[in-house]
Amino acid sequence: MSRRILLLGSTGSIGTQALDVISRSDDLEVVGLSAQSNWEALVAQAVEHQVPRIAVTDEDLGALAAEAWTDGEVLRGPEGLVRLVLESGADLVLNALVGSAGLGPTVATLGEGIDLALANKESLVVGGELVMALAEATGASILPVDSEHSAIHQLIHGEQATGGLASIEKLVLTASGGPFRGRTRSELEGVSVEQALKHPTWAMGGKITIDSATLMNKGLEVIEAHHLFGTPYERIDVVVHPQSIVHSLITLVDGAALAHLGHPDMRVPIAYALHHPQRTEVPVKPLDLAEVGSLTFEPVDTDSFPCLRLSREAAIAGGTAPCVLNAANEVAVHAFLEGRLPFLGIPEVIDGALQELGSQPIRAFETLYDADREAREVASGLVSTVTA
Ligand code: NDP
Ligand code: MG
Repeated sequence: MSRRILLLGSTGSIGTQALDVISRSDDLEVVGLSAQSNWEALVAQAVEHQVPRIAVTDEDLGALAAEAWTDGEVLRGPEGLVRLVLESGADLVLNALVGSAGLGPTVATLGEGIDLALANKESLVVGGELVMALAEATGASILPVDSEHSAIHQLIHGEQATGGLASIEKLVLTASGGPFRGRTRSELEGVSVEQALKHPTWAMGGKITIDSATLMNKGLEVIEAHHLFGTPYERIDVVVHPQSIVHSLITLVDGAALAHLGHPDMRVPIAYALHHPQRTEVPVKPLDLAEVGSLTFEPVDTDSFPCLRLSREAAIAGGTAPCVLNAANEVAVHAFLEGRLPFLGIPEVIDGALQELGSQPIRAFETLYDADREAREVASGLVSTVTA
């Protein structure tokens, strides 16, 4: 019997690569798709993959989709997205939305006890404790799609089979360093949007590409790893590795270190999550280390890239601080992409929002939605002062 997949954010970078993985398999069937506004591409995907149900988060554009496509059901708005989760009969939901908008669908999926393939790292950054507790309570599994976390998931799985988790000393996440690796702080003044969007090793959506240039992406990933694997922050390290061949490693108590390698291609971790616990063929270039020649590693420069330090501080403060960090980052990145904020203004806005709002205890998901909203308001105000 085929596995029924619901793909949220199907028009994005992860979403389209997931459809490529699904179309190569006889064991996977798509039962629903979603997009925010790109409804024409969404309808074309629904036709091509014979999908019965789609959701468009933008209400008005959802109405246009419903007029244009009458072969299936069109759900609308953020509530429509949650209904899609509840009504699709999926065995596995792939959450490939961008930003804290992914939290609601993550909660709906896990609340129903449906397994979750998670690309939307922001869900865990914002609501890690509650999200993990919900998965535990309903028995749903979370399979990471982020390449570093997929690598660690596979490495840990091997250790679990032999010695148990006590043998693991550290998780080491690799970072490409982004397009501005090696630059000093003053050399980052005035860098353009175009330069920041040129990632050296991965082709991704706009928001995560800017997060990679500021190294905020790695900060979010440290928080993601903490929640996924239950590892304390002092046992999660980051090392810069420009070739993106080593996707992450774990170090063990006996001095051994295990690493996961391959050419950078997100279809590998996507296929792993969608087929788990099976493996399937993915048409990627085989790894020939002699051809690669050299793999290099260097420490992170937190003077030039303060976002990683800000993330660790927010993570350790806990409560709503990571939610504030994430919301302020989303607002700042959006402003940078629109030319309203300089590159170095991104950490400035995040720092300002964290200082102003601090950390509040989290009582329920409502606390997070409120903190997200408040942090967006504060960060928007800060964007105008930094620009001025
Ligand atoms: P994209 O921007 O390419 O795609 C995002 C998708 O989500 C699109 O389908 C978009 O619809 C939809 N969307 C955007 N905003 C909203 C919203 N507010 N509500 C509902 N739907 C929305 O992002 P990526 O594919 O690059 O990234 C997706 C997630 O995966 C992110 O969390 C990212 O950090 C993570 N990730 C991505 C990697 C990559 O290689 N791209 C690697 C590792 C992790 P529309 O097309 O209509 O705008
Ligand atoms: Mg990653």
